[in-house]
Amino acid sequence: MILRNEDLDPQRSRAEFARAMMEDLRWLGIHWTEGPDCGGPYGPYVQSERGAHYLEAWRRLREGGFLYPCICSRKDLAQAASAPNDADDEPVYPGTCRERKHVDCADPAGLNWRFRVPDGEPIELLDLNLGRQRYVAGRDFGDFLVWRRDDVPAYQLAVVVDDAAMRITEVVRGADLLKSTARQLLLMRALDDTAPDYFHCELVRDTAGMRLAKRHDALSIRHLRESGLTAENVLEMAGCP
Ligand SMILES: [Zn+2]
Repeated sequence: MILRNEDLDPQRSRAEFARAMMEDLRWLGIHWTEGPDCGGPYGPYVQSERGAHYLEAWRRLREGGFLYPCICSRKDLAQAASAPNDADDEPVYPGTCRERKHVDCADPAGLNWRFRVPDGEPIELLDLNLGRQRYVAGRDFGDFLVWRRDDVPAYQLAVVVDDAAMRITEVVRGADLLKSTARQLLLMRALDDTAPDYFHCELVRDTAGMRLAKRHDALSIRHLRESGLTAENVLEMAGCP
């Protein structure tokens, strides 16, 4: 079990959040053998310290002809460094900048960079929980960002690079990231990486059917703990066996 701190978005990431997260996970009885607090053979386990890895991947993708700079101004570009979900998944990019003239640059800063998806290609995966999943590139998702103009690598790129570098064999995460998995499979193929197995979990929702999220003021583990619940109570509420 590996704990990786994905702290690339400077707006949302603070050291005290990471500390609290680790404390809450330990309280729940979840333990890891590699992580920011205990180290391990493939560290550092903090994305903000892994910039050189992402830059190298950007260079390889760029040399392979998979990327192009995008000058479109879009409000949702600001979200590219965070994991997307059902509610705020980006609309299919119309390809406006695909055919723009080649630019010469040695590093990505100052421009938004997109990955060119193979239009019409079905991307399939066998999820260990939800079974066979199928998306069509260019229809279900378009050319996605891999690097932001403010010099922050996008979530999709950082996760793929780290999963390969950290020899991840199985990824367990929310079903809201299924479509991102399809994007990531394309990135892995472009980088010659072997894909891990995936197990996507149904989301835990509140009584109104809303996904629990910090931005919706949902109950945090911290809050439940302070209200006197035990770790067993919380796991039960979340439907864990
Ligand atoms: Zn564009």
